[in-house]
Amino acid sequence: MEDIAYFDNSATTKPCENAVKKMNDSLNNNWGNPSSLYDMGLSAEREMYAARSAVAKTLSCRPDEVYFTSGGTEANNLAVFGAYRAGARRGNRIVTTSIEHPSVQNAAAELEKQGAEVVRLSPGSDGRVKAEDILAAVDKNTVLVSIMLANNETGAIQPVEAAAAAVKKTGAPALIHADCVQAFGKMPIRLDRIGADLITVSGHKIHGPKGIGALIKKKTARILPRAFGGGQESGLRPGTEASPLIAGLLGAVEALPDIPAQLKKIGELKAYTAERLLATGVVKINSPEDGLPYILNISVPGIRSETMLHFLEERRIYVSSGSACAKGKPSYVLREMGLPDDLADSAVRISFSRYNTEEQADRLVSAVSEAAAVLKHK
Ligand code: PLP
Repeated sequence: MEDIAYFDNSATTKPCENAVKKMNDSLNNNWGNPSSLYDMGLSAEREMYAARSAVAKTLSCRPDEVYFTSGGTEANNLAVFGAYRAGARRGNRIVTTSIEHPSVQNAAAELEKQGAEVVRLSPGSDGRVKAEDILAAVDKNTVLVSIMLANNETGAIQPVEAAAAAVKKTGAPALIHADCVQAFGKMPIRLDRIGADLITVSGHKIHGPKGIGALIKKKTARILPRAFGGGQESGLRPGTEASPLIAGLLGAVEALPDIPAQLKKIGELKAYTAERLLATGVVKINSPEDGLPYILNISVPGIRSETMLHFLEERRIYVSSGSACAKGKPSYVLREMGLPDDLADSAVRISFSRYNTEEQADRLVSAVSEAAAVLKHK
């Protein structure tokens, strides 16, 4: 049986050896409660601090600006609810986009039911929201601007830095939140440059375990907690820390290759794959050329996304139709970009990791080509 060719790394990634080793070590040998005052607690706390420092180093921020959560979803909810509630006396407007992950979109929709005024900006056909549109939507009542850095379906990079700089100039009390789940560990991000007050990251997109992520909160930003309990994570996210998962996140971050060098390699693999897919004559590319190269969204008009997905699955090649969270529903992101139905209904997301090879890409290309020949006439 042929090895799997896994091209769904934006849904989740294979945990790397170092992450698994660190988790095992935490579970077997370092399972004390990080809050305990004796040596076992201190040892667990030391590992947690190492993880905090490693995440901080990757984002050029301070370790005490890293708050561990159960993943990207919780960090996004904490950012949206926390910033809105902290700003309640100053305003009620939230500016976001129509292509955010559901964990931002649905959090904002929930606040809308409770009286927030939510402005959702649409992208252009390139998948990007314009910085000018964000600036135009921000008024003196705006308490939160939430915009993702790299879109999870197309890889389109959003103008977080430009928007943040523009918004800050308006003097609006808005905190800027950037969902960096797809970009973290894949492109260089510096908290001091990106201009965001809040950044979301997740472990399982970078070869760490599922169920761990972090909200990065600038020292100067104030948000309110969503949950109440002991004083862990400075009271912002109480609960006994998930030390085995935090150790796994540390393992994943430690094992990250040099980010710019890896970005270049993935860019080459994406170009290799895209070129060959286009040469089949049956593929259209939906991702913008200058998007995050880890994501390549394509369509094979005439073959529904799920049909293609299962055809590839039979050959042990794994991709997704839209995003993993959408579970087969047509992609709202592609529709927001104005993609015609035949392209939106046949879209497939190919997402790369450092474990993918050109040989795997060749298998993918010939299977897509075969699918077009076999399925189109059915
Ligand atoms: N934000 C984006 C852009 C994502 O792609 C995802 C996961 O797919 C999330 C947030 C949610 O992260 P998690 O799976 O860690 O809850």
